[in-house]
Amino acid sequence: MPSKAKIFEHWMNWLHKNCFDWAEPSCWSCRKYWGDKYDIKNPRASRKEIIRNWNRVPLQRCHIIPRQFGGSDEVENLFLMCAECHDKAPNTKSREAFLQWTSKQNHSKNFYELVMKEIRNYELQDKIKLINDLIKTKKLWNLIEDDLGIHVNQSRGGIEITVSTVIAAIAEYIRNEEENL
Ligand SMILES: [Zn+2]
Repeated sequence: MPSKAKIFEHWMNWLHKNCFDWAEPSCWSCRKYWGDKYDIKNPRASRKEIIRNWNRVPLQRCHIIPRQFGGSDEVENLFLMCAECHDKAPNTKSREAFLQWTSKQNHSKNFYELVMKEIRNYELQDKIKLINDLIKTKKLWNLIEDDLGIHVNQSRGGIEITVSTVIAAIAEYIRNEEENL
């Protein structure tokens, strides 16, 4: 299998045409981005450095046409995506169908929908404003840390906390507040 850098090199022009920044790696499907963690910070970085940097990115090499349908391990049949997109991607014999699917994925929208689903699970639809305010405070994150007994590293994403964990903590917080009124 070709390296991620080799795959990137093949797709460079396509990525540029589709408004992907070569120096700020993100998922080629949902555009999930890790802050500046994997960015090329040197503005004068060489083409070679920019290409090689893609080997560091936590993206997976996905087959466009799967092996079971005769898809090859050549760079033109490989596409870099995050683990979530890789899991969800269609198994299809059509290159066009695959690329059309990837173009419709949207990390922020997926995340928003996940949050809204958990908010409905906990019947907190009428508390959106309160939740928004709460998320911005340190109080909520302290609460989650206490519950989990682990150190949560928000800025560098040391530990992934599921959306349901966050919303569960919010639901608990709101319940306690209301009882103390
Ligand atoms: Zn993705």
